[in-house]
Amino acid sequence: MTAERLVVIGGDAAGMSAASQARRLRGPDELEIVAFERGRFTSYSACGIPYWVGGQVGERDELIARSPEEHRARGIDLRMRTEVVEIDVEGRRVRSRDLDDEGSGETWTSYDKLVIATGARPVRPALPGIDAPGVHGVQTLGDGQALLDSLRGTRGRRAVVVGAGYIGVEMAEALIHRGYEVTVVNRGAEPMSTLDADMGRLVHEAMTGMGITMVDDTEVTKILTGDDGRVRAVAAEDAEYPADVVVLGIGVRPETALARDAGLPLGEHGGLLTDLAMRVRGHEDVWAGGDCVEVRDLVSGTFRHIALGTHANKHGQVIGSNVGGGYATFPGVVGTAVSKVCDLEIARTGLREKDARRAGLRYVTVTIESTSRAGYYPGAAPMTVKMLAERRTGRLLGVQIVGREGAAKRVDVAAVALTAGMTVEQMTALDLGYAPPFSPVWDPVLVAARKAVAAVRAATG
Ligand SMILES: Cc1cc2nc3c(=O)[nH]c(=O)nc-3n(C[C@H](O)[C@H](O)[C@H](O)COP(=O)(O)OP(=O)(O)OC[C@H]3O[C@@H](n4cnc5c(N)ncnc54)[C@H](O)[C@@H]3O)c2cc1C
Repeated sequence: MTAERLVVIGGDAAGMSAASQARRLRGPDELEIVAFERGRFTSYSACGIPYWVGGQVGERDELIARSPEEHRARGIDLRMRTEVVEIDVEGRRVRSRDLDDEGSGETWTSYDKLVIATGARPVRPALPGIDAPGVHGVQTLGDGQALLDSLRGTRGRRAVVVGAGYIGVEMAEALIHRGYEVTVVNRGAEPMSTLDADMGRLVHEAMTGMGITMVDDTEVTKILTGDDGRVRAVAAEDAEYPADVVVLGIGVRPETALARDAGLPLGEHGGLLTDLAMRVRGHEDVWAGGDCVEVRDLVSGTFRHIALGTHANKHGQVIGSNVGGGYATFPGVVGTAVSKVCDLEIARTGLREKDARRAGLRYVTVTIESTSRAGYYPGAAPMTVKMLAERRTGRLLGVQIVGREGAAKRVDVAAVALTAGMTVEQMTALDLGYAPPFSPVWDPVLVAARKAVAAVRAATG
């Protein structure tokens, strides 16, 4: 029997999870696996880059879950520094080139099954000076290394972070740990646009309290350089922010140029569209997962592009199971995300007010103040919980939490409630754990749910 060939494009979370799971289910006699990765690393945690740059994680290699050699030892033919430049869907083959050997020409590799896991590409606006030394992205381990080298090579101690999404705020923390004076320049009205503005304001205030200069509502227009060609400031329309180093955290877009050129279906956010088994719509033997796809939002029913490692790993597992002859599905997400800046924890799940409005939902909101532990227990810290519930039905629509230790992972209760389609009234009966060191007798999420029940009743009359 000739083995089928699985070709995987992309050697990180989604691609190598898919390859590894397929290999667990089918041995090399049945399934040959060829994986292409244009970079120098496989299966690494970009999520850990802020903590490596900040010094909490000592070595780069601690972020690598599985090296190319380890994948090869498990029977995966991994071709590093090899970029796929074309997918020929009709001919069931991909064209690739070796980035370290320009003279070697291009090679066609045929496939029986194809997995596209090309990830996302960071937004890098074409501003004057954007490529100057001292301006850094943080998408890859190579980027992290370049930033660390740059920090070691500068004498000045002023850093500007452009963008105040979760990567921007995590990098602000990293630079604080490295002893920098940090300014965060953000085009939105408040940091963390994944939260409603009233909750984003709390993040703004807390970051200001940490000594970070927060500049909101401001569009960067250029990067200014000194006589040595290195960055010296970030310029906005009517102000300049001096910088010895600049970190860009402006967001990402799905890396789907190859897929688009191959005629594969893309959604309105530019991500590949798949069915629930992660098979590319209309293509029996092509699969896609991770940051290059759009996912179904289970609360609003719409498709969104959400670039998170937690989804990429699950997609890979689902794809590998299906390609390996098993059966698995990825039903969608409720939009859960957590992050932190120094001791401030930030969490969200479900819909923001504007998402609910866009989806045509009518809703009530409540915001409560509570504490992380019983008020009398040492270390009790304030926590703000905002909850959205549907008018009339009382269905939970979303939760946002800003607080100190213990705030972020509380959102998981709400994520479960959203996934189960619970009402806020049902949530009030949840049997959550209580002891003074862990929560007040009414957990902050339950306090919000109780208040939301009252708001739903008041709105319904
Ligand atoms: C600084 C930072 C912090 C983060 N923190 C978190 C977090 O706390 N929690 C969380 O859930 N997520 C986090 N993420 C997001 C998470 O890292 C990504 O969602 C995850 O890596 C996506 O995995 P992926 O396999 O889809 O894509 P990627 O990790 O981008 O991998 C895609 C791979 O495909 C390769 N590739 C692309 N095109 C080609 C081609 N044509 N030929 C060959 N190879 C190709 C690329 O080189 C890349 O290695 C963070 C990301 C960053 C940058």
